[in-house]
Amino acid sequence: MAVIAWIGLGHMGGPMTANLVKAGHIVRGYDLSSEALAAAEANGVRPAASIAEAVSGADAVFTMLPKGQHVRSVYLGEGGILESASTGTLLIDSSTIDIESAGTVHEAAAAAGFRFVDAPVSGGMSGAAAGTLAFMVGGAPDAVADASVLIEPMSGNIIATGGPTTGQAAKICNNLILFNNLASTCEGAVLADRLGLDKEVFWNVASVSSGDSWALRTWYPLAGVVPTAASNRDFSPTFTTELANKDIGLALDAARATGTPLVLAEQVQAQFERLIELGLGGLDCSKIVAFVDGSLADDAARAAAV
Ligand code: NAD
Repeated sequence: MAVIAWIGLGHMGGPMTANLVKAGHIVRGYDLSSEALAAAEANGVRPAASIAEAVSGADAVFTMLPKGQHVRSVYLGEGGILESASTGTLLIDSSTIDIESAGTVHEAAAAAGFRFVDAPVSGGMSGAAAGTLAFMVGGAPDAVADASVLIEPMSGNIIATGGPTTGQAAKICNNLILFNNLASTCEGAVLADRLGLDKEVFWNVASVSSGDSWALRTWYPLAGVVPTAASNRDFSPTFTTELANKDIGLALDAARATGTPLVLAEQVQAQFERLIELGLGGLDCSKIVAFVDGSLADDAARAAAV
C-alpha cells in the first residue's frame, strides 16, 4: 500500500483514482473544481485543500491535467509540486501534453532532485473506469519500473517507451494515426454507402480486410453498424472534437519542430477546427463524417439559426 497524491480529478482522473483506492492505496486528491473533488471523495479519495497538502509525505504524485500549461503551472508554479513535495516522492504525469512542456518538467524535476516520468494513457473514459488503460512511460529505467508498479491497477498494458518525453511522443503519434484512420474511415464508409453497399456488409468486409483499423471497429461513423460508435447517438461524444483537435495539434507542433510534413493531418485538423468554429466542438470527433456526406451544410444552417 502506498500514499498517492493525485492532482486533476476530471473525466479520467476520477475513475483512475477509484481503481487505486480499490487496490488498497491511500489516495489524496486535489482539483480546482469542488464538484470533481466531491465526486472523487465518494469513491474513497481523501480530499486535500491544496497541492502542498496533497503531496505532503506522499510516496508518489500523479497529475492528470488538460494541457501543457496546466502541467507546467502545477509542477513549477508557486506552491506547486516541486516546491511542496519531498525529493523522495516519485512524480508521474499522465496528461497528454506537448513534448516541449514534458521536457521542461523533466529537466526542472531532475534539477530539483526528483525522479519524474511522462506516462500518458490511451483507452478513454471506459478504459479508465475498467482499469484497462494502456500507459506509455518515458523516463529513467528505475523511475519507470517503480511507476509501473503503482500504475498496474489502472492499466491493461504498461509499455516502457524509453527516455524522457518518449511516452508523450508515443501517445501523440498513436493519436495522429487514429485521427487519420478516422478520416479515411469516414470517406470509405460514405462512398461504400453511395455505391449501394449495405452498411453492415461493407463493415464486415473492411474489418477483416486491409481497410481495418481501431477507428473502423470502434467509431464507425455511420449509425447502426458498431454499437460503441457515437454515430448511433447523434454524435454525443465518446471523444470530443475539442480534445481530438488538441491531440492532432500536438502532432502538428511536433512535426513542425522536426521538419516533418504531415499533409493528411493538416486536412483532418482543418475539419476539426471548422466543426469547432460552427459551435460543434463538443460533439464526437467522428462528426467529421459530415464533410463527406454533405450534412455539414444542415448543421451550419442550424448553428446560424440559434
Ligand atoms: P478533464 O478536463 O475532465 O479533467 C482535468 C481536471 O484537471 C479538471 O477536473 C480540472 O478542474 C483539473 N485542473 C485543471 N487545472 C488544475 C490545477 N491547476 N490544479 C488542480 N486541478 C486542475 O480532462 P480529462 O478528460 O480527465 O483529461 C485529462 C488528460 O488526459 C488530458 O490531457 C487528456 O488529453 C488526456 N486523455 C483524455 C482522454 C479522454 O478520453 N478524456 C483519453 C486519454 C487521454
